Amino acid sequence: MIRQKSKGTLIVISAPSGSGKGTVINGLLKNDSKNRWLSVSTTTRPMRSNDIPGVTYNFVSKEEFEKKIEEGYFLEYTNYVGNYYGTPREFISEKLNKGIDVILEVEIEGASNIKKLVPEALFIFIMPPSLQEMVKRLKKRGTDSKEKILERFHTAYKEVNEVTKYNYVVVNDKIEDAIDKVEAIIKAEKCRVDRIEEVFLNTTEEEIHELLMDDKEFVNEDIVI
Ligand code: 5GP
Repeated sequence: MIRQKSKGTLIVISAPSGSGKGTVINGLLKNDSKNRWLSVSTTTRPMRSNDIPGVTYNFVSKEEFEKKIEEGYFLEYTNYVGNYYGTPREFISEKLNKGIDVILEVEIEGASNIKKLVPEALFIFIMPPSLQEMVKRLKKRGTDSKEKILERFHTAYKEVNEVTKYNYVVVNDKIEDAIDKVEAIIKAEKCRVDRIEEVFLNTTEEEIHELLMDDKEFVNEDIVI
């Protein structure tokens, strides 16, 4: 009866540092690795012990990053807490055209730039359960200096106020619940009427009318079609 667009969905996920978005995204990828693809960003920030080059990020120098900006390599890029982060253009359209959902994990400025380019994308904000919990998670990570943690906290504090620019917000107090909620949002997104490409009726109205008129099972003569 309906044919839906076969294109994948561009899913933009933002969250302040310490909200656990990495774990949520890993859960989404694990649930459906065949039909989902996470874009690997390029950054100039120093590598952390749990980073895997080419998997968590592509790490480049400031000069290399700036050269790539000039070459138009990025769909969007930003300077966040003193380092460059950018989403490479490559693969995004190709994956979407193949029906694969593309996940972009970007901060709010990046999300706002993507919204200008792709207004129909799905924008999800992951929120930490509380500011105290967010600071606790930042400290526990043990990867940043006190100064960096403070800077990240102040940036995150500002970011939380930007939540209304997104389509959905998910509070990450329990990881499994947060993943379930994002799954439900993605599922609902696929059913939106603006994803319908064609509505087709394989039987004409007259054919159904005839069928009903000839139907001997109708006992109530009052039924008028
Ligand atoms: P982190 O240093 O904690 O890995 O990332 C810092 C922030 O940069 C996070 O909010 C993350 O979502 C964001 N980020 C990562 N990659 C990109 C990107 O390609 N573009 C933009 N705009 N932000 C990004």
